[in-house]
Amino acid sequence: MVRAAVLSAPGERLRLAELELPEPGPGQVRVQIAATGVCHSDLSLARGTLRAPMPVVLGHESAGTVVSVGADVTSCAPGDRVVLCWAPPCGACWFCAEDEPWLCEHASDAAAAPYAMVDGVEVYPGLSTGGFAEQTVVSARAVVRVPDAVPLEHAALVGCAVMTGVGAVLNTAKVRAGQSVLVVGLGGVGLSVVQGARLAGAGQVVVVDRSPDKLELARTMGATDVLEAGGELAKQVRALTGRRGADHAFDCVGLAETIRACWSATRRGGTTTIVGIGGKEQQVSFTALELFHFARTVQGCVYGSTDPLRDIPTILDHAAAGRLDLGALITGTVGLDGIDGAFEAMEAGQGVRTVVLP
Ligand SMILES: [Zn+2]
Ligand SMILES: [Zn+2]
Repeated sequence: MVRAAVLSAPGERLRLAELELPEPGPGQVRVQIAATGVCHSDLSLARGTLRAPMPVVLGHESAGTVVSVGADVTSCAPGDRVVLCWAPPCGACWFCAEDEPWLCEHASDAAAAPYAMVDGVEVYPGLSTGGFAEQTVVSARAVVRVPDAVPLEHAALVGCAVMTGVGAVLNTAKVRAGQSVLVVGLGGVGLSVVQGARLAGAGQVVVVDRSPDKLELARTMGATDVLEAGGELAKQVRALTGRRGADHAFDCVGLAETIRACWSATRRGGTTTIVGIGGKEQQVSFTALELFHFARTVQGCVYGSTDPLRDIPTILDHAAAGRLDLGALITGTVGLDGIDGAFEAMEAGQGVRTVVLP
């Protein structure tokens, strides 16, 4: 039996419970969780804006130590320090064969099947991970080794926010040295975009948020210009970029208003990358003439267009070498009983990343 924070239905509070977790089967590993970041997708799942089968153990930004492995697993061994990937590609479907493993048809398969029991009831692993617990059982394809130089609390964030944000810059947008970058929304993903832009050698990095604290934090991570949300963004950005607009914009909010503002703030031929997860009710509109005239690109970005087995080790190397400051993203730690409080702080726009230490 291991302790876990269980959500029974959207809108309810999490409940601490004893999880009956089976031993890992073929192709699976059991991991002792050291740290799990509280991500905005967990909040959306808890509030019902995103859907998942229930009851569920949320938490999908985790790192820990392998406890045991299934019979046929050779890629890792007990004692290995690992980060968990919530969208492990199968390596065999059409998208994987096209070298687009972030769109793998089977990346979410594990989330759709019960993996443990609580009080005689089947429980699902949130986003295939189940990170808000002392231990979990995941696919062996979902674990990536962590170098000794990177603390597991930091490595955990690579599993979602950092891989998404840095991947958006390097893989999806392919920002080149010297280019100008606009980042709207400075949560864990947005600040990872800022750090990714620094890594790519971007010239100007303009950031926008409502929180003066987050704007200041962004400065320490490579932002060159900070703008408090609410102004006329396109005008402000043009004034900072030789009247042209930014080469790249990253929307890390997911609202029609911020996506449209990002698009308008890019130069002719510029690119807007949509990283934030928006709602079905958000309608973004463009005129046919402006789509033609400005020759701008709008592109979606799923999981930072990441090939996890290739990209997560690279990100961890950057962290080990000090080129990414993962510790600066962590603004608080809680136990398994503190997750609801972390959700409330997130809704109030406070802090960047709370890390759960089960
Ligand atoms: Zn996430
Ligand atoms: Zn696949």
